[in-house]
Amino acid sequence: MTLSYVNPTDDSPWGTYLSQVDRVAPLLGPLSRWIETLKRPKRALIVDVPIELDNGTIAHHEGYRVQHSLTRGPGKGGVRYHPDVTLEEVMALSAWMSIKTAAVNLPFGGAKGGIRVDPKKLSQKELEKLTRRYTSEIGIIIGPQQDIPAPDVNTNAQIMAWMMDTYSMNTGATATGVVTGKPIPLGGSLGRVKATGRGVYVTGREAARRIGLDLIGAKVAVQGFGNVGLSAAELFGQAGAVVVAAQDHTGSIFNDQGLDLSRLVPHVHATGGVAGFAGAEAGDNEAFWDVDCDILIPAALENQITAARANRLKAKLVLEGANGPTGRAADDILFDRGILVVPDVICNAGGVTVSYFEWVQDFSSFFWTEDEINVKLDKIMVGALRNIWDTADRHKVTLRTATFAVACERILSARQERGLYP
Ligand code: GLU
Repeated sequence: MTLSYVNPTDDSPWGTYLSQVDRVAPLLGPLSRWIETLKRPKRALIVDVPIELDNGTIAHHEGYRVQHSLTRGPGKGGVRYHPDVTLEEVMALSAWMSIKTAAVNLPFGGAKGGIRVDPKKLSQKELEKLTRRYTSEIGIIIGPQQDIPAPDVNTNAQIMAWMMDTYSMNTGATATGVVTGKPIPLGGSLGRVKATGRGVYVTGREAARRIGLDLIGAKVAVQGFGNVGLSAAELFGQAGAVVVAAQDHTGSIFNDQGLDLSRLVPHVHATGGVAGFAGAEAGDNEAFWDVDCDILIPAALENQITAARANRLKAKLVLEGANGPTGRAADDILFDRGILVVPDVICNAGGVTVSYFEWVQDFSSFFWTEDEINVKLDKIMVGALRNIWDTADRHKVTLRTATFAVACERILSARQERGLYP
């Protein structure tokens, strides 16, 4: 039965997710009896988030928190602030979190939140009010043992600090474990900010080795120069690769000899985007998809690699730093063209893995060094990817379907063992 409250299309996020589940069903044997569990969120909360703006008017915003699955543990997943956020998008993002946490075997379910707002138009004070009111509204379903938000598109450590404070004030006790991605003095973890980008690099390094692609001199194109894209670019740069193109909401820049990241990164921090960087040529946004590169890292929003773009890409390897960047038809085209895709649900799982480390450190009140964190992250990502690759070889399927197979097996086995209540 389809859900009455969303209208997914072939290429919309929930539609894409459903097709991914359908693909894995034949690999699940008797567990496929439970597959419908994955095709509907356990719980979806829609809230009104009113705030008084600096000019005295009242603005209302749609907010969401969707808990797709709590079968293997508390809900886990970020909160995104974006003018295009919808319930359907948040549902898909929450479902991808369930797959992600299960794929790396973290003891979490999957959840996601969002507010339909352009945060760039808000003052710092307005942003704080928005965050605190939203946190209060979703306070009835989040908590260190219930559901643990984290940063996502346009949210950061400061926003997590306000969320942690609001939840703590409402419950009457400081609860550091209610969110991850917090500032370090509030129980944040070293290495969390760069963790998603590091995971993209680690899975990319392993994939490159498997296809015989030398990272030294490899050409990399990065879409999205926020936290994920920027950290991944730096790590590939340190490994000897050259970043030849970068695109974000401000524009696209190209330099076939390699962008000087030691100058580009401060430029992005200072100006808010890649546009206007002196050490590159500015170019057309669509030309980004034709650039001559070995590795493409989409690290922005969903559905960026459309079928038309998939036919043009020159890369040998696509590393999905973003969630859901490849449409369904595009995915098949990339496969037919022999372009290897490391899918979002494993490629960008480094962020939630270090979120898990943060949550564990908060509970034990015992904090690890950055080295310990990076070593543990590397080990978990490499182990998870190996298992997925073995599954892909065994069933002769893509890495995406293999990741879904590993994850759905874990979620549905747990579902079966727990049994249906009542
Ligand atoms: N927002 C990140 C993601 O999409 C991290 C979520 C988390 O750390 O809980 O994976």
